Amino acid sequence: MIHRTNASVTPAAVAFAVTAAAAPGDLPRTPREPRLAARGHLTPLHHRALGHAWDGWTLALEEHPDGAARAHTGRVSVLLAGELHNRAELARATGLGTGAGTGTGVGTGTGTGPYEGGDAELLAHAYARYGEHVLRMLNGRYALLLCDGPLLLAATDHAGGVPLYLHRTGAAVRLATEAKALLHPGDHTGTPPAGLLPVRGSQEVRQVPAGTAAVLHLETGAARTFTTWTPSPARHLPTPDQAVTRTREALERAVRTRLPAAGTPTAVLSGGIDSSTVAALAAGAGHGLETVSMGTDLGDEFAAARLVADHLGARHPGLRHTEITLTTGELLAELPWAVWAAEVTDPDIIEYLLPLVALYRRLDGPPRRILTGYGADIPLGGMHRHARHLPELDDLVAHDMAHFDGLNEMSPTLAAIAGHWTTHPYWDRDVLDTLLPLEAGLKHRDGIDKWVLRRAAADVLPAETVRRPKLGVHEGSGTTSALDRLFLAHGTAPDRVRQARRQALDALYDTLVAGPAHPDDIPLDDFLKGLPA
Ligand code: AMP
Ligand code: MG
Repeated sequence: MIHRTNASVTPAAVAFAVTAAAAPGDLPRTPREPRLAARGHLTPLHHRALGHAWDGWTLALEEHPDGAARAHTGRVSVLLAGELHNRAELARATGLGTGAGTGTGVGTGTGTGPYEGGDAELLAHAYARYGEHVLRMLNGRYALLLCDGPLLLAATDHAGGVPLYLHRTGAAVRLATEAKALLHPGDHTGTPPAGLLPVRGSQEVRQVPAGTAAVLHLETGAARTFTTWTPSPARHLPTPDQAVTRTREALERAVRTRLPAAGTPTAVLSGGIDSSTVAALAAGAGHGLETVSMGTDLGDEFAAARLVADHLGARHPGLRHTEITLTTGELLAELPWAVWAAEVTDPDIIEYLLPLVALYRRLDGPPRRILTGYGADIPLGGMHRHARHLPELDDLVAHDMAHFDGLNEMSPTLAAIAGHWTTHPYWDRDVLDTLLPLEAGLKHRDGIDKWVLRRAAADVLPAETVRRPKLGVHEGSGTTSALDRLFLAHGTAPDRVRQARRQALDALYDTLVAGPAHPDDIPLDDFLKGLPA
């Protein structure tokens, strides 16, 4: 049977927690509902096919037909959390229709029109043609589980855009898009397969690396991994004009494929070059746009964002811009939510994510599709604008690309805790493959950081925005100062603030992600008082 999705703003599933085994008799009893921070509609999943059986849950932000995130064709079963961004190419290569399609309607799935089946169904067809190598052809943001008889594939997209965790226990494999679903209550047995990332809070649970598929045989227990994407170490030498044109084309396509099939998209807008470019390209697509900026009593970038919103509003009717201001106390109270959603303890990453989690949790109304400029700095070296020489800049870019994995910076759970779906055009596979290999002199040129991007957006943004120096989200929102003040107020010596932050984040993770607590149970002040000084 083949399931399809309905017209909707968000993917048919954004999370899952599933146990797989070779035979239904090997499936251990699963808890009634999984522990997931993502909020939405849970659908129970009981499935049995030749060579494998599944039991668990999928979670969608909007109501979808039962099983829309799944496809079952004979011995092949596919479960997809997230979405594909190269549907048209994949459908064409697989012989399934010619046009883009939306993946959100019900169609014939064959013939010469756009392919209208769901992403999971498209994947099942493409797998029938290409086997596991199909995972090297996907551009998307997803975690997937595919069983072909007793052969189980657990894979993330090139960027690990939807985190995926795995626990092999006895005859079964437990898989979830959030670690907490596997960590607590923990079944602390089993031998983890090699080649996966360690997870804090367990010796047995592992995270599937970005651009990697884990292949496990449910009967023999044999396991291996294979790589589906890796950042290019090569550097290309296009002319400056070619680089600008390619950058613009890749970004336009990435934004276009991320717009909702129905309804108005939202862009989180700081007024910096990254998010302003995304907002401008989204506005240019003509489906309307809502832009949102957040600030606190310690800082905001409202003037810079309004400049962009006014500029775009004058050219594209139907734009709406909103400013959201939080008190420092309100911002800091989000700290448990940020750890709950991101499932990491890195103090720098949490500092970036805290204001965004706070913002997503204040976006009301039905599920939104939110475009963000997050991540542009990594392939373009934007954080390293003070690098003095091109080789140094290129080394820093390569270093950042070698170390993003497992940080969950772009996890959908950050917004799914508030019922929304986020999407990151700069981390589109083809945009990364365009930006990353540019020789460093196109990223930093004439003393201008992110030169190629600024030039690529020059005709759609105010000149002031194109020139505007970078301000990190943690700086622009006053988050850095707010966190420093919090720890100083709790009696931490100034030279120990960093260490205290790290300890507090570890403790929050151990309580919320590895332990049984919920962010609502944690008044931050009391929690910090309870920590060793
Ligand atoms: P940045 O650290 O400045 O690169 O920020 C990453 C992304 O977060 C930006 O591209 C925006 O999409 C979003 N963002 C940053 N600051 C704000 C803000 N003050 N309000 C809304 N969105 C923001
Ligand atoms: Mg910024």
